[in-house]
Amino acid sequence: MSILDTFRLDSKVALVTGASRGLGQALAVGLAEAGADVAAISRSACDKTRQQVEATGRQFVHVPVDLATVTPADLEAVVADVVATRGRLDILVNNAGTTRRAPALKLTEDDWDVVLQVNLKAVFFLSQAAARHMAGQGGGKIIHIASMLSYQGGILVSPYAASKSGVAGLTHALANEWAAHHINVNAIAPGYMLTEMTAPLAADPDRNPAILARIPAGRWGTPDDLKGLVVFLASAAADYMHGTIVPVDGGWLSR
Ligand code: NAP
Repeated sequence: MSILDTFRLDSKVALVTGASRGLGQALAVGLAEAGADVAAISRSACDKTRQQVEATGRQFVHVPVDLATVTPADLEAVVADVVATRGRLDILVNNAGTTRRAPALKLTEDDWDVVLQVNLKAVFFLSQAAARHMAGQGGGKIIHIASMLSYQGGILVSPYAASKSGVAGLTHALANEWAAHHINVNAIAPGYMLTEMTAPLAADPDRNPAILARIPAGRWGTPDDLKGLVVFLASAAADYMHGTIVPVDGGWLSR
C-alpha cells in the first residue's frame, strides 16, 4: 500500500457535529471526499452539506440534536442509532461550538452554562459514547476542534477560552486513556477562520486589521484550510498520533 492510500477513508463512517455550516461543513465534505460516509449533528438543516457530501458519492444522514440541552443518555442514543443504521462508527469530529462575547464583569450564568455545555460537556459525553463503541470495534479516531483560545485568553470571551482550554486538556486526558483501545484522540486548533462565528470580528474596523496584522500568512483562514489535516488525523496515516493539538493558524502562534 502506498503512503497516499493510507490517507483514504473508504468504507469508514464519520459523525461530525456542527456540520450545518462553517468549519464543520468543510470538515464533513473533506472526510467524504476521502471516502467516508457522514452523519451530521446540528440544530438546523444541513441541506448544503448533504448536497456536497452526496456529490462525492458518499452517504449522508442528518441527526437533529441541540447540544445545549442534550443529556449523556441522548448522546448514547445518537451513537447507537448511527451504528445501527450505518453498521459502524470510525470517526468522531467534535466541531460544534458557540460563544458569548461579554466583559467578564457582566457575564451571566446563562452565558457561562451554554458555552461550557456545548463546547465542553457535550464534547466529553459524545466522545465517551463513541469511544465505548470504538473500543468494542477495535479502534477509532476522535478529533476535537480546539482554538487559539486553547492557548490564549482572547478578548471578551472568558467562557469560550475556558471551554477551549478544557478541550485541550480533554484531548490529552482521553488520549492517555484510550490509546490502549486503538482510539486516537487529537485536536485541530484553527486560527482566525472566516465563518458566521467570526463575522462580528471580521466586520469590526478595529479588530479586523489588528487580527490580520498578527497573521504571518496575511489572510484569514477559510474552512477548506482544515480539510487536509482532518483527513490525515482520521486516517491510518495518523495511527501513532495521540493527544496532539495541531494549529492551522497561518502562523498566528509563531508571532
Ligand atoms: P459557526 O459558523 O457558528 O458554526 C457552528 C456550528 O455548530 C453550526 O453548524 C451550528 O449548527 C453548530 N452548533 C452550535 N450550537 C449548537 C447546538 N447547541 N447544538 C448543535 N449544534 C450546534 O462556527 P465555526 O466558526 O464554523 O466554528 C466551528 C468550531 O470551530 C467551533 O467549535 C468553534 O469554536 C471552532 N473554532 C472556530 C474558529 C473560527 O475562526 N471560526 C477558530 C477556532 C475554533 P446549528 O446552528 O445548525 O445548530
